[in-house]
Amino acid sequence: MKFNAVRGAITVSENNKEEILLKTRKLLLQLIEKNGLDLQAIISIIFTATRDIDAVYPAVAARELGMTSIPLICCQEMHVKGSLPLCIRVLMHVQLEDDRQLQSVYLEKAVTLRPDLMNLTIAIDGPAGAGKSTVARLLAKRMGILYLDTGAMYRAMGLKVLERGRDPRKPEDVIPLLPDTDISVQLDEEGQKVLLDGRDVTDEIRTRRISNAASDVGTIPEVRQKLVEIQRQIAKKVPIVMDGRDIGTYVLPNADLKIFLTASPEERARRRWKELMEKGIKSDYDSVLQEIIQRDANDSNRSFAPLQKAEDAVLIDTTNKSIDQVIEELVCLLNN
Ligand code: C5P
Repeated sequence: MKFNAVRGAITVSENNKEEILLKTRKLLLQLIEKNGLDLQAIISIIFTATRDIDAVYPAVAARELGMTSIPLICCQEMHVKGSLPLCIRVLMHVQLEDDRQLQSVYLEKAVTLRPDLMNLTIAIDGPAGAGKSTVARLLAKRMGILYLDTGAMYRAMGLKVLERGRDPRKPEDVIPLLPDTDISVQLDEEGQKVLLDGRDVTDEIRTRRISNAASDVGTIPEVRQKLVEIQRQIAKKVPIVMDGRDIGTYVLPNADLKIFLTASPEERARRRWKELMEKGIKSDYDSVLQEIIQRDANDSNRSFAPLQKAEDAVLIDTTNKSIDQVIEELVCLLNN
């Protein structure tokens, strides 16, 4: 006989008896089902509820499910400033005949408690220069999950096309290259490496010429299909924050949170211009603005998976906001 324990959590929409019992039942049933447990295997259960829950003891739901002889206890979860409200947590002790790996269950907004376990997906879309990559990187760090910059994959494709002396605007120049092109990413907590046919091109793709080529090849459906497939495979395997142009609408339509970040073209051009100047790349503001407008037009007017706010995405205008303000807003959205 082996002794083990398994964790779970769920949130309720309000502090009322029916809702608390319904959600607790849902959580217990999923823990039991997902782990193939029978009631005899359960030794005891500890429930905690946040201080905003007091309409009923969650343990009542367990009794109603027939757990009449299992020791149960309810406690109040320690209150930490800014923590997830209206949350019920469970710690279930079990005895098992075998070595099976127990799986935690985090449901509703409680997925944000353990995004690493629950394959959380966050989609951040928006036009060039809206602050997507900075926000996505910091949010991923805060949540302890990985960040995928999908633009880098389009950039790698743009680089390949230019290196072959072809025109990134012409599908007949680009499509024949696809079968022999291998674009992959290596992700870790430090960031992302992009490999083009096995070669690390992470730094090489950060030029204005490649930005424009990426925008052009991104209008070709065959390019998008190839890269989207890779992006979906990554999201299947690990919890992730993904940024791009079509993540919420096309790549991950079932993402747990969808954000559409935007800012005025002038503000976005100002940020890009400043970035270039800081890197020592001399540029003039008007041509950076023209490029931003051109890339917006490419992204928004292409027929296949254009840049659009998903209906269920939250719109955030970053024009007058600091990065920290945006991150706090996103953490709030995840917790509420
Ligand atoms: O985000 P970033 O500026 O690196 O993207 C480069 C270009 O790749 C964009 O201008 C856009 O046209 C294209 N892209 C895309 N779909 C994505 C990400 C980027 O079409 N998911």
